[in-house]
Amino acid sequence: MRVAIVGAGITGLACARDLVAAGLEVVVFDKGRGVGGRLATRRAEGGFQFDHGASQVSATGAPFAALLKEAEAAGALARWEPGAGTSNASPSFVGLPGMSGFARYLAQGIDVRVGSTIGTVDRVDAGWRVTVGDHSETFDRVVLTLPAPQIIRLLGTTHPLCKEVSGVQMSPCLTLMAAFAGQGHVQDQKFAQPPGDLDLITLGNSKPGRQGDLQLWVAHANADFSNRHLDQELPDIAQMMLPLLCDHLGRKPAEALHAVAHRWRYARASRPLGLPFLSDRSGQMYLGGDWCLGNTAEAGWTSGRAVAADLLALGR
Ligand SMILES: Cc1cc2nc3c(=O)[nH]c(=O)nc-3n(C[C@H](O)[C@H](O)[C@H](O)COP(=O)(O)OP(=O)(O)OC[C@H]3O[C@@H](n4cnc5c(N)ncnc54)[C@H](O)[C@@H]3O)c2cc1C
Repeated sequence: MRVAIVGAGITGLACARDLVAAGLEVVVFDKGRGVGGRLATRRAEGGFQFDHGASQVSATGAPFAALLKEAEAAGALARWEPGAGTSNASPSFVGLPGMSGFARYLAQGIDVRVGSTIGTVDRVDAGWRVTVGDHSETFDRVVLTLPAPQIIRLLGTTHPLCKEVSGVQMSPCLTLMAAFAGQGHVQDQKFAQPPGDLDLITLGNSKPGRQGDLQLWVAHANADFSNRHLDQELPDIAQMMLPLLCDHLGRKPAEALHAVAHRWRYARASRPLGLPFLSDRSGQMYLGGDWCLGNTAEAGWTSGRAVAADLLALGR
């Protein structure tokens, strides 16, 4: 059986791993330049990097905790003690050398085709035809693991599965990546949840395995600020967010050596589906993602594995 998975974030990779382990032929398509989706690392000129999506991963359940342990033993994750302001009850882990390193570990042994934007997914006699540019390929099963609004855009609002997907709400997150000279006085501000328009500030180089002598900060705007400024130009967003970060750090915007913004249009589910996945009646098309169960990497992992389990149970 050939299975197409659209999306090489943690949901798609979780699903692919289980299907490949069961002997199925799996191809994962992703429009990005690499794997990981929102487990993302941005490299800047000058050789430094920012984890501008998820800042860390942690487990609430035993299956994901076991995966984190496995990846830690393989050198793809390291434990991180974020410091004051952290609310996680369970240990935090970060990817090595960046968050996307965790996704690359999960993608080992899987046929992943990056730079492949799926334009259409159509039912044909022999199964499903997925199209990338002017190339199309047919598969027996198809699994879509995109953020919920992107699934609706791909399938069309009238698709029978989209009625349920449209109840899911995802919030945006505008993100600032900023570099300053020097480390010194910020040892106690590795990770903070400041009042105001910012939700989270992370000192990236307080994470294990990161090098360099710059302060590398990532600031996430809260949902209200992100919604208000969502469609502004990225340089304007960076100019708006830099003073917010500087207020918190007690620095001047002019001191920033680097300040670049990123727009996560669909960052985290504010109203998840409440089911591990959706499928059509025949069990031939599956929809999964973090948005099914929550808004964390663990939710995506759990959804992806649930898709694989159902597909294997029905398909064999
Ligand atoms: C700013 C931010 C902070 C976060 N913080 C945390 C945190 O601290 N801890 C935590 O656990 N989680 C956090 N999260 C959430 C976590 O990143 C997500 O829950 C998880 O990564 C979602 O994985 P996914 O595979 O479901 O989706 P994604 O990672 O979004 O993967 C979907 C993939 O589909 C691809 N795609 C989209 N359209 C197409 C198409 N047409 N064709 C081909 N490919 C396509 C995309 O390129 C993407 O790679 C954060 C997210 C953001 C944005």
